[in-house]
Amino acid sequence: MRYYSTRGKTDYTGAKNAIIKGLAPDGGLFVPAEPLTPYAPEYLPAGNYREIAAAVFEPFLDDYPEAVIEQAVQSAYSVESFDHPDITPLAKLSDRTHILELFHGPTCAFKDIALQILPHLLNAAVKTTSEASEIVILTATSGDTGKSALEGFRDVPGVKIIVYFPEKGVSEIQKLQMTTQEGSNVGVFAVEGNFDDTQRGVKQIFNDQEFSSELQDLGYRLSSANSINWGRLLPQISYYFFAYRQLINRGVVQAGDKINFVVPTGNFGNILAGYYARCLGLPVNRLLCAANRNNVLTDFINRGTYDRRRPFYRSHSPSMDILVSSNLERLLFELTGHDKEKVLTWMKQLTDTGSYKVDQGTLEKIQELFWSDYANDDETLQAIADTYRNENYLIDPHTGVGKCVLDRYRKKEADQTVSVLLSTASPYKFAGSTIQALFNKEVIENLSEFEMIKVLHRETGIKVPANLATLEKKPVKHKQVIKPFQMPEHLKKYLHKL
Ligand SMILES: *Cc1c(COP(=O)(O)O)cnc(C)c1O
Repeated sequence: MRYYSTRGKTDYTGAKNAIIKGLAPDGGLFVPAEPLTPYAPEYLPAGNYREIAAAVFEPFLDDYPEAVIEQAVQSAYSVESFDHPDITPLAKLSDRTHILELFHGPTCAFKDIALQILPHLLNAAVKTTSEASEIVILTATSGDTGKSALEGFRDVPGVKIIVYFPEKGVSEIQKLQMTTQEGSNVGVFAVEGNFDDTQRGVKQIFNDQEFSSELQDLGYRLSSANSINWGRLLPQISYYFFAYRQLINRGVVQAGDKINFVVPTGNFGNILAGYYARCLGLPVNRLLCAANRNNVLTDFINRGTYDRRRPFYRSHSPSMDILVSSNLERLLFELTGHDKEKVLTWMKQLTDTGSYKVDQGTLEKIQELFWSDYANDDETLQAIADTYRNENYLIDPHTGVGKCVLDRYRKKEADQTVSVLLSTASPYKFAGSTIQALFNKEVIENLSEFEMIKVLHRETGIKVPANLATLEKKPVKHKQVIKPFQMPEHLKKYLHKL
């Protein structure tokens, strides 16, 4: 498979190079340049998670030896890293509602599925290209990505991983997850200010050509682990197939029956993997895009205008508090039949004016497959409470948004199709919001997040993930706080020391 950019100004390239580069040099995103070959229903990938993942990856990574893919899959999706033998187990809520648990990895959120394997793919790519420099992964995080990237890249040879998080912009648990990080090649720094300040600091480093060549002279090359990298999108396609295979195995569907997927969405990476799964022949009826109060995607899917000029809200589902969904660019490129001029125009309008409107034909294509609604904080907490009381199953606030939207979809569209709700985080990772949904205010007043985890465990009896249970006692290793303007100089000095 060859890849090229959604903005059409780069040459064809192989998977290895697309993964090393992350972002295409013209500012676009790498997408498969060749048509995908759909599986016939009777030949959909089968087996356990690792077998399905390897089958899905192989055509996309044809410049990797099969043995390397096999090895990467075995190392990434092991029972040492995931606390469930199915890796992404499918739980049953009712006959037609199933929950795909994507939170059994080391950091208890779905980003682990991609970030556990990306380092293996990157490392293998670097080894066989003429790349002599060491790769330095820089990540600005609002919480989940940073820890997930640290866990994925720690002690990977030839790679260093540096994470910046806003000093006051992450939860107590998220902060401790990062500041207690072990590994000989990791750097973790708090940055004064909010997430935007942190993100801007990292972007400035990436955009500074002079600084890049200075680093190059020192033997380093910058790369990114955020969700625009094809190496993060591809691994997510596998679990859509895995969920479907489970439904076949349990006799819920027969090969070829269509199902819906409900996806709590922020940057549009997770749900886009569902779109690609459908292109590969997975029988998908509808992809439900669930947003929180930052409902820019809901408006877009319903009306065809993307408009980020709106207030930004902090919600109970913070990993979905996003107004610019980067991966949407890939969907537009696919649905316009790879029309780079159109995509370029829309993306330029977004940068210049903050908004763009797609043509009627494109909107119709979007609406044929996607459906969207959003849930505010009260509705989210209500969905958590209802699901726990009625189905005896505890969901986190991101998944709560999805559940609320699924219920609304069924009411509005009278569609009884079997639906899989993607659960993107463990309820314990967002214990504060989850507990608020279940108990009245007096119970939880003045509790630390760790105390909340204990209360939640006591009341529900659900097992606390080992990595969160031991977190409180881990020594803090990374205490440095820096100012945004100090980031480049500080990075240079730090790389010297590592
Ligand atoms: C990142 C994240 C999301 C959003 O996923 P996208 O791929 O950005 O749409 C949803 N829930 C959780 C818990 C996340 O960490």
